Amino acid sequence: MRLDYLSIFPAYFDVLDISLVGKAAINGLVEIHAHDLRDWTHDRHRTVDDTPCGGGAGMVMKPDPWGEAFDEIIGTESDPSVHVIFPAPSGTPFTQSAAAELSSAQRIVFCCGRYEGIDHRVIDYARSMWTVHEVSLGDYVLNGGEVAALAITEAVVRLVPGFMGNPESLAEESFSAGQDGLLEYPLFTRPVSWRGLDVPEVLMSGHHGRIASWRRDESVRLTRERRPDLTDSDSSGIH
Ligand code: SAM
Repeated sequence: MRLDYLSIFPAYFDVLDISLVGKAAINGLVEIHAHDLRDWTHDRHRTVDDTPCGGGAGMVMKPDPWGEAFDEIIGTESDPSVHVIFPAPSGTPFTQSAAAELSSAQRIVFCCGRYEGIDHRVIDYARSMWTVHEVSLGDYVLNGGEVAALAITEAVVRLVPGFMGNPESLAEESFSAGQDGLLEYPLFTRPVSWRGLDVPEVLMSGHHGRIASWRRDESVRLTRERRPDLTDSDSSGIH
């Protein structure tokens, strides 16, 4: 999988060199390329923004540098196998199933907005050429798309076959099919007693059936309490 990041702050992506994503890059599972959008400007100030048409506060990212960057990084041919992601608060909420779908992509290009956002023609142009996803990380506003691109990268790359040493750990995570789309149950490890707090007895019983049933009950309880929206879906397993 090749990952490209277009940003006016490409140093944000230096963190991808550390931890498991960095290891995946060393092992050749992913290829990471961070680009400075200002490399496709032609004025002395390397300008990437301009005032909004129609007036209003803030600045909007100009289309020209984006177009030239696309031509050089992706090319000028239409190719639906290329996934282009525009992080945006107005995008579709990012989910584990979206991460799973993207984990089989060969090529993902992240376009990180700043200021008030990117001239909409850039998104329309990309949509006419490649597979575009406008994705929101949540109902809040960040300063730029870089942190969102990093979060999406981590959620996607850990699902790429070969990334996880033990793929079974993916099957039982929150939102996964193995969890019926529910939130994960609370976790404990040793010592059994810590600061007056004990690990639930059932988890130390060695009784697999009782443990599975306790975990299931806790998942259902937590999901009902914190994310009732997840229990509404047909795949949730709670009706
Ligand atoms: N004017 C925009 C609005 O009201 O929706 C907010 C722009 S925000 C200050 C600048 C950039 O941060 C956006 O273009 C987007 O790339 C990124 N961003 C901010 N919040 C985000 C979120 N919740 N999810 C994904 N990207 C976000």
